[in-house]
Amino acid sequence: MHQLKNDIQFLKGVGPKRAELLNQELSIFKFEDLLQHFPFRYIDRTKFYKVREIKESLPNIQSKGIISNFKEKGDGRKKYLTAEFSDETGSIELIWFKGAKWIKQNLISGNEYIIFGKPARYGRKINIAHPDIDDPKEDNKKISSSLQAVYPSTEKLAKKNVTSKVFRKIISNLFEQTGGIIPETLALYLTEKLKLLSYNEALVNIHFPHNAEKLNRAIFRLKFEELFYIQLNILKLKFKRKAVFKGFLFDTVGDNFNKFYKEKLPFELTGAQKRVIKEIRRDFASGKQSNRLLQGDVGSGKTLVALMLILIALDNGYQACFMAPTEILAHQHFQTISKMLDGLNLNISLLTGSTKQSERKELHNNLQNGNLNILIGTHALFEDTVKFKNLGFVVIDEQHKFGVAQRAKMWKKNTQPPHMLVMTATPIPRTLAMTVYGDLDVSVIDELPPGRKPVKTIHSYDSKRIRVFKFIRDQIKAGRQIYIVYPLIYESENFEYKDLEDGLESISREFPAPEYALSVVHGKMKPSEKEASMKLFVKGITNIMIATTVIEVGVDVPNASVMIIESAERFGLSQLHQLRGRVGRGADQSYCILMTSYKLSAEAKTRIKTMVETNDGFKIAVVDMKLRGPGDAEGTRQSGIPFELKLANLSEDYKILELARRTAEQILDDDPDLSELKNQVFIKQLKDKTKAKLNWGIIS
Ligand code: ADP
Ligand code: MG
Repeated sequence: MHQLKNDIQFLKGVGPKRAELLNQELSIFKFEDLLQHFPFRYIDRTKFYKVREIKESLPNIQSKGIISNFKEKGDGRKKYLTAEFSDETGSIELIWFKGAKWIKQNLISGNEYIIFGKPARYGRKINIAHPDIDDPKEDNKKISSSLQAVYPSTEKLAKKNVTSKVFRKIISNLFEQTGGIIPETLALYLTEKLKLLSYNEALVNIHFPHNAEKLNRAIFRLKFEELFYIQLNILKLKFKRKAVFKGFLFDTVGDNFNKFYKEKLPFELTGAQKRVIKEIRRDFASGKQSNRLLQGDVGSGKTLVALMLILIALDNGYQACFMAPTEILAHQHFQTISKMLDGLNLNISLLTGSTKQSERKELHNNLQNGNLNILIGTHALFEDTVKFKNLGFVVIDEQHKFGVAQRAKMWKKNTQPPHMLVMTATPIPRTLAMTVYGDLDVSVIDELPPGRKPVKTIHSYDSKRIRVFKFIRDQIKAGRQIYIVYPLIYESENFEYKDLEDGLESISREFPAPEYALSVVHGKMKPSEKEASMKLFVKGITNIMIATTVIEVGVDVPNASVMIIESAERFGLSQLHQLRGRVGRGADQSYCILMTSYKLSAEAKTRIKTMVETNDGFKIAVVDMKLRGPGDAEGTRQSGIPFELKLANLSEDYKILELARRTAEQILDDDPDLSELKNQVFIKQLKDKTKAKLNWGIIS
């Protein structure tokens, strides 16, 4: 039973040398690691080809025939061995460039064998190099089945002849050596209820499928298990947080909120905004800490929602803070919020990295004596020196720009954790959200304010630039402003992509002063320079903003109606979507023009096509995840999936994920700290799996 923890070198067929290889190449150290080395495909070995049917265009084939006529050929270092392989329909050649000695010792000329390999053509002859060879008389039943597993490998393993056949052999030995019984990893009542294969049967069948149906059930069971433990892990912490952490009770709606709502709110809230505010107010009144992710596409009005909730915090005697990922954004939020709250008699301050020491002192005082109601800023707010009198509500905008650990610091800024609202415009597919933010409650704004015209997106090639320039001129004549975004600031070694420096030169030529005025913003500028340049554009003094992606998030200039993205093939989907979100904020028709070269990879084509076809951030996120895989999708890496997924795939295994989550919820509803005897197996498995991992879950 405990053999699964044994060192892999003690498995029959492994030994110290192979063990070292398996350690280094595949991180296989123990018996159990080998069991988790899953095949990535299967070969149907029920079919036997006649020799005449073997063509070089075929993938791996299997054939039964006589091996004879061994010959050593070549000279010196380039020696090789050939043999003839024949049946009643013809013959082909087998070739070995190494291992000739072993072949001659072990194969008997004139005997019948089963060969397996990839046909190739050399001159007029078909040959197969280094075929797998089985003796048809040998009792192979234990390790062969009609569907034969093929294992992921590495160059080094291949070189040392640790082939799929070797893996099948040693895994078969493992099953034998462990007596064929691998202990169960889910509770029995669960496998019975869901009609899952036992762990043992699933493992046997994923390595040596009995048939296709059993293989599918094995894969299902193992994927379920992976997703289930991730969900159980996250949800357990969520259940615990809800049970343990009290929340400040915000049960009053007072003057600040009411006055703003009646006198200041310049428009009707959308239905989605109202719903989300209601959801969070319910949290506020629950006596538990609210810990929510607010998803809403760019321009859906998240800031306003946050602001109204801040007013409720203030009405209940607490302070609030609002954090943005960049100085420009923090500044902009400060200005909009100050303007919107003008006349409410509230103290609002801005704190960023460039706030002067002298100002800071006063600010710190006001925070601590409670004179300051709302603090807006960047990550400068995380610093320990920033202390509040009574912080009750934290809003974090564009959350994927902040690391998990940073956010946790805000929890400690009061004697008990303040309510947290994390906002993101990067839509995350539901599957991913469930996994990565599984412990947060999720609210979604799925509706844009009325009267918005969807941005028209056009794909244009570099060679059509003249037409694009004319379009820009027409738009400027109509009073609009233009963004032009570059992937790079300076020229790079590969000349593939446009850079800002070069672009600025040609734009200045096309749009000369004094008729036109340009703003420039990029990451190498000082914050004050960026700020100044940005301001000119916000005020409408400059016509064109030439920038890198520093303007990606949050910038709000309703009069800007054209977004031109240079070398658009260089950008990821979520970035393109973010950039496009900078326009379409006013009443005028807006445009996004994606400039590319003619040479586009298949993936780049898909990205461009997706952008042209849809404005729906969720659809874009789903395509993005499919293209990049969930591990790379924006926001994932920082947030971290607590343990590696070996089989399950978040973009494909949606149904299994839902089942896993529902199952985990039911179990926790029933037994929140998994203390019942029947659930002990879950505790043990979680411990095993999360060892050495951070405690992600209790952090927002
Ligand atoms: P987000 O942060 O979600 O990208 P913002 O909060 O910046 O969006 O809102 C985008 C623009 O829409 C702002 O100019 C804001 O004033 C405006 N807005 C927000 N809610 C509404 C509404 N219900 N009706 C009309 N305009 C709105
Ligand atoms: Mg915003």
